Amino acid sequence: MAKKQFKAESKRLLDLMINSIYTNKEIFLREIISNASDAIDKLCYLSLTDDSVGLSRSDFAIDILLDKNARTITVRDNGIGMSMAEAEQNLGVIAKSGSYQFKGEMDGEKAESEDLSIIGQFGVGFYSAFMVSDEVTVISRKFGESEGVRWNSKGADGYTVTACEKESVGTDVIMHIKEDTEDEIYGSYLEVWKIKALVKKYSDYVRWPIRMDIEHQERFETGEKNDDGSPKYEYRMVTENETVNSMIPIWQRSKSEVTDEDCIAWYKEKNRDRKDPVALVRVNAEGAVSYKAMLFVPGEQNENVFTGDNKGAITLYSNGVMIMEKCDKLVHEYFGFVKGVVDSPDLSLNISRELLQHDRQLRIIGQNLEKRIKSELEKLLRDDRPKYQEFFKNFGVDIKCGICDEYGRWKDFLKDLLIFWTGEDSQVTLKEYVDAMPESQKAIYYASADTLKRAISLPQCEEVRKRGFSLIYLTSPLDEMVLSALGDQDGKRFCNVVTDDLGFDTDEEKKAAEERDIENRELLDFVKESVGEGLSKVKLSNKLASRPCALTTEGGVTLEMERYFRYGPSEEMRTVRATRVLELNPEHPAFSALQSAFTDNRDKAAHLAQVLYALAELSAGVEVEDPAAFTDAVTELF
Ligand code: ADP
Repeated sequence: MAKKQFKAESKRLLDLMINSIYTNKEIFLREIISNASDAIDKLCYLSLTDDSVGLSRSDFAIDILLDKNARTITVRDNGIGMSMAEAEQNLGVIAKSGSYQFKGEMDGEKAESEDLSIIGQFGVGFYSAFMVSDEVTVISRKFGESEGVRWNSKGADGYTVTACEKESVGTDVIMHIKEDTEDEIYGSYLEVWKIKALVKKYSDYVRWPIRMDIEHQERFETGEKNDDGSPKYEYRMVTENETVNSMIPIWQRSKSEVTDEDCIAWYKEKNRDRKDPVALVRVNAEGAVSYKAMLFVPGEQNENVFTGDNKGAITLYSNGVMIMEKCDKLVHEYFGFVKGVVDSPDLSLNISRELLQHDRQLRIIGQNLEKRIKSELEKLLRDDRPKYQEFFKNFGVDIKCGICDEYGRWKDFLKDLLIFWTGEDSQVTLKEYVDAMPESQKAIYYASADTLKRAISLPQCEEVRKRGFSLIYLTSPLDEMVLSALGDQDGKRFCNVVTDDLGFDTDEEKKAAEERDIENRELLDFVKESVGEGLSKVKLSNKLASRPCALTTEGGVTLEMERYFRYGPSEEMRTVRATRVLELNPEHPAFSALQSAFTDNRDKAAHLAQVLYALAELSAGVEVEDPAAFTDAVTELF
């Protein structure tokens, strides 16, 4: 029979497993059991709607069979099984989920030793069997098929797949344990006590019974009598098939039984997450609707590399039976990053996705959980700002989108979770910002650019800071949309320092400015003319402090939005342009130079105008529209 080759990346992982010097080899059992448990979940779920499965919940189990003579451990399940194509697809190629991520980590030019340390942090799936085995055979029959499949591999040189007989649906994974070496007593994996301990340690919460034949001593009456007439006893070894795991899912257990650390360890293993979650919500609700929930806010973004999907990672259970793996209707999308489980006996077992949306119980659960998630996040915001900032870096965008969604329907619920930059490394909530505002400050000032640095260095900010007011700096068009959805904070309006009236000028000052504009009208028109088409307006400004000029916009589209739309899906979107306004600082020497050139030398004045416009573009962080004209204009000035 021809051997098939593993795909290259699988081979590398396999090599690593086989030659692994990793000390924590024992995790292989957890991996194989967890695959078995998943396979049972799938068939059990199917059995809810398909009578032909012919099994009820109590029929499902995982059996571990040890054979010291043959040096094998068999993990047997009566789950969904695999077809031949699936066996080939799933076991011949590196698996999709966690293992892929592991591979992703390995792809970098990392030292082998570093690769190895990762093994313990991720689930590494089926291949981990090769850490302790020199041959693995999988015999499986998929539900609905009459034939089985036999997959066999002795390691990196390939595998074979053949059709075979198998009486019942399910999968046997038969691992032939390696010979002992000086450093490693592989034979211990054939000992009942060892395997039992490993099941307890890693797979105690698996919902299905994990059974093993366990020998123990039994006292029995021999039938003879002692001298005093009492019955004579002797001991003999009996083998009993025992369920080794406690099976109660971790979320079903009380806080006194299971610590938060246990939950976090469970979460990390389940989600193959290396980082601790930043928040944990544990609920045990009794009342109109009873449910238990264990939810986590991940410490990092952990999206599925294949689908880009990072949503709806809450799994629904009804009395320990999974009824929906990814329920994205339980909490709103703005909390879509939350992972975990919700288990309620009040939920119907064969509920469909459509029905779920209208399910009253589920809505109540969802609302309560959202409140709990929010209050956990608020606690984090209060007690551990750096950690909250990290959270916001990862998932702030979900909250922001939530504020803008449905015409701001959720903004009041969510707005306290927002934080904004007020400097290179400080972020505050809007409430904190407003509370710190001096009496004389009337508005919340903000400046927007594509990076924080650029926003901070926008010329228009200077005047605001000079007055002792702080600004919030926005770094994406979404931020601007958020402010526009919010409208105000505690009655204070938002003021864009680039486009809005800062409200600093007295009536007299405004009047003087208008007069000054009229006086300089001819010059301003000349500047507009000299710059050309792209520019809509030129005006004088007194909010530029020490800078000669700035680029601002009028109307709804800002420079940030223009930048954002440039990568939009339609040509129409990509060509959206902001209405550009060039502001000149009449107090700056550059303006005096422009004025005198305008009187003495119009050509020079035109070049100065072009240079000023290009400078304004540069400081606004936009590309100089016509670099050739800019260089010419500068050269002409010498
Ligand atoms: P993962 O579990 O992360 O997907 P694995 O390498 O452990 O990766 O397994 C690969 C795939 O093989 C699984 O996703 C599953 O489809 C299939 N598989 C493994 N073990 C079993 C089993 N006992 N029964 C049915 N399918 C299985």
